[in-house]
Amino acid sequence: MISDNLREVRQEIQNSCALVGRKEDSVTLIAVTKTVDSEKTKQVVQAGILDCAENRAEKFLEKKQELADFPQITWHFIGNLQRRKVKLVINEIDYFHALDSLKLAAEIQKRAEHVIKCFVEVNVSGEESKQGITPAELSGFIEELKAFDRIQVVGLMTMAPADSTKEQQHEIFRTLRQLQEKVRECHLSYAPCTELSMGMSNDFSVAIQEGATFIRVGTALVKDM
Ligand SMILES: *Cc1c(COP(=O)(O)O)cnc(C)c1O
Repeated sequence: MISDNLREVRQEIQNSCALVGRKEDSVTLIAVTKTVDSEKTKQVVQAGILDCAENRAEKFLEKKQELADFPQITWHFIGNLQRRKVKLVINEIDYFHALDSLKLAAEIQKRAEHVIKCFVEVNVSGEESKQGITPAELSGFIEELKAFDRIQVVGLMTMAPADSTKEQQHEIFRTLRQLQEKVRECHLSYAPCTELSMGMSNDFSVAIQEGATFIRVGTALVKDM
């Protein structure tokens, strides 16, 4: 049951916050609903999670339509978004978590009808299969984004490798936080960079301990026990 899963996840959020003296409401739980149908997504929303994330353009659009009765949902797009699909998706979402190239930024600029809240995805671990710019590219990338007034950099996003140890997770998430602080300290109007999107089912506790403000949890919420 979703409600049992949710109780466990909330408990772990609470415990992780307590470990480092953070307030529970400083972490937003995003339900990653990419593996379940609209019916089950409705159950997630009815259980009280109002932030949902998808990673495929067509599936997201279909789902948003099927969930039209729930206009209170905040929609997050967490996947690689092909440039030719930007125009379909970008005005339908509240947050985009995977900005990682200037070409993509230019396409968002061209298609957006309002300012889009974006996370810059950083490949902290250096895993080859991962999206994202390198940590070394970050400050130059942020500088270039100044040219796009339809993009607001609300924060940074990363993923830890699936097989990483707790120690490695701590290091990856801590590095992202240090990068975020560096950008934030620049006080750029277009890049407040106050948020950190990091932590999934297997590592959200570590991510919270390292400062995550948005965690993206799929399996742990939608699994059948
Ligand atoms: C699938 C996905 C998640 C959720 O992963 P789980 O391990 O199921 O919690 C989080 N973030 C991104 C970018 C994803 O693609």
